[in-house]
Amino acid sequence: MRLNKGLMISAIAAVSVLALSGCTDSSEPEAAPEVKATVEFEAGTTMAELNEAGKIVIGTKFDQPLFGLKGTGDPEGFDVEIGKIIAAELGIPADGIEWTETVSANREPFIQNGQVDLVVATYTINDKRKEVIDFAGPYYTAGQDLLVLAGTDDISGPDDLADKTVCTVTGSTSFTNISAYPTARIIEAGTYSECLEPLRTGEADAVTTDNVILAGLAAQNEGEFEVVGNPFTEEPYVIGIAKYDQAFRDFINDTLEAAYDDGRWADAWEATAGAVLDTPEPPAVDRY
Ligand code: GLU
Repeated sequence: MRLNKGLMISAIAAVSVLALSGCTDSSEPEAAPEVKATVEFEAGTTMAELNEAGKIVIGTKFDQPLFGLKGTGDPEGFDVEIGKIIAAELGIPADGIEWTETVSANREPFIQNGQVDLVVATYTINDKRKEVIDFAGPYYTAGQDLLVLAGTDDISGPDDLADKTVCTVTGSTSFTNISAYPTARIIEAGTYSECLEPLRTGEADAVTTDNVILAGLAAQNEGEFEVVGNPFTEEPYVIGIAKYDQAFRDFINDTLEAAYDDGRWADAWEATAGAVLDTPEPPAVDRY
């Protein structure tokens, strides 16, 4: 994995920080994904239902710069763009998307009870989650890392946390993963942005989650924090959908592969996370 520009937080141009402020809609990608004018789907499929309705409900994060950050308008970020690509392929324009905030702990229940049609929210697939949802992708692979106050020199990985307090989020793989390491205390928050104040005040010595989420938070608060840059897990990001909807899974996987091939995926990255991070290679989708 190449995590790169995100680790050179001090070098981030002021313009990126403005784009990350969440206060404007100015960081919209220049061209919205082209909406399929006429698409025909087999009757009775989720695709046909959504296309007919002209609407889709997508769960994403609202407080994660680079991936899903909501200011006054619609949320912005790479996950949001992936959602728009899928919607466009269903014949649904961006204004037909209802964005619902999903935090780490409510993604499976929101999918299971039909509150959302799909979730694109820095969502790692793992065996436990696979028991209750299905997924398409992955469309990106992150790695868990640590965020510390700028200038911290005694934390370079999870093995340095034995006498430290770490903040992370309930219901995340970050929480499960860090629990395997000795720590003095784990503070559980509802979202990663809620971990920043404990880090500022010294109540927490580190925040832990995926490197790209931490890179976004560091860029949003320029000069205050730094990502340690030593990822210790693999976090394949997927699109969560209801279980047993094979046709919808295939459709989303086909859409992702087409977006890899024709440049929409890379364009989406460059217009969002690309403000801070180099463009990676897309991972192969998992056709299970
Ligand atoms: N990707 C991890 C997860 O799905 C951590 C980030 C998050 O909580 O969204 O649990």
